[in-house]
Amino acid sequence: MQRWEQALAERHARGLYRQPRALEQRQGVNARLEGRDCLVFCSNDYLGLADHPEVAAALARAATTQGTGSGAAHLISGHHPEHDALERELAEAVGRPRALLFSTGYMANMGVINALTEPGDVIFEDALNHASLLDGGWLSRGRMQRYAHGDVAALDAAMAEASGPALIVTDAVFSMDGDLAPLAALSELSARRQALLVVDDAHGFGVLGDGAGTVAHFGLSAAEVPVYIGTLGKALGTFGAFVAGSETLIDYLVQRARTYIYTTAPPPALAAATRSALAVARRETWRRAHLAELVARFRTGAERLGLPLMASATPIQPLLVGDAARAMTLGARLLEAGYWVTPIRPPTVPAGTARLRITLCATHTPAQVDGLLEALSRCWDEGE
Ligand SMILES: *Cc1c(COP(=O)(O)O)cnc(C)c1O
Repeated sequence: MQRWEQALAERHARGLYRQPRALEQRQGVNARLEGRDCLVFCSNDYLGLADHPEVAAALARAATTQGTGSGAAHLISGHHPEHDALERELAEAVGRPRALLFSTGYMANMGVINALTEPGDVIFEDALNHASLLDGGWLSRGRMQRYAHGDVAALDAAMAEASGPALIVTDAVFSMDGDLAPLAALSELSARRQALLVVDDAHGFGVLGDGAGTVAHFGLSAAEVPVYIGTLGKALGTFGAFVAGSETLIDYLVQRARTYIYTTAPPPALAAATRSALAVARRETWRRAHLAELVARFRTGAERLGLPLMASATPIQPLLVGDAARAMTLGARLLEAGYWVTPIRPPTVPAGTARLRITLCATHTPAQVDGLLEALSRCWDEGE
């Protein structure tokens, strides 16, 4: 199609063309990319559980006894005891009565927003929410309204103008910036305006609040954040997602969430692996402690070098570059130096805010972080 070719050519010309690159071998944060050994500083495997031997063994064992596939959707014949057990353990981990598994975070967000919205409802979303939350709002029967990033006063004003039931939907940790949503203020506002607060904690679950997530980090109760979404492909190192909340919420989602109902249930062996990851994440508290130390070390070092840090206290530590082409050059130079940091460009981030989204993992060493800082400083200056 000529239209496709034109669009592709335009992407190339604007420095926005994207392509997946195959990670050929990995062992912790050590990887081989296109024949070159490198250290990965751009994965969401925050606790380093994605290749943990205990979790891998749980997956292999369960696959041998329970097979590779669930065989059907949850409500047909695809729901297994392993799913039940994982749902119970996830609910407990985040201090809520029940949890419901989804195949991915993308599907959880689409399903939940759609299920909880009726025609005439208004969905208020932070401008920097993850694409899956935005898509969930746009594809729902409600009306979408975005508010300026983290701006509770602007949201309050917008809500004062609107009529009808409302949802407030936010990332807990913003995926490309690493900063936290003002959850206490959002919860207070949602109570005052009788809106339902939906929080997507993809990057907080397992990491913040002693592993219980960002809501726990802020000391907020289940009542203050009634709809909690966590994902399993990031800190937990496996795959999938869950929604946690009251008995009634979960009951309702089972009836209404189309991305839960009309899709094959995740393999029970995967649920077994996630249960194992959850146990390791709880038991090995050193992972979170070490990660917090690395975050502090990176920030202190970057500040000393005059690198453009963003306001983040999480393992997501982006450095703002601005120009997409320059971000690509920096990414290529870093890779030559042995550090893999995929540059993030529009449309994933707003125009003019291309960045190096550096992520730290519990399996990085302090020396590796120092090495990255040194390489960053060198590559940054070369381009001036
Ligand atoms: C990664 C991410 C998702 C999607 O989760 P998947 O399980 O990868 O589909 C949803 N929300 C946020 C904020 C994310 O960063």
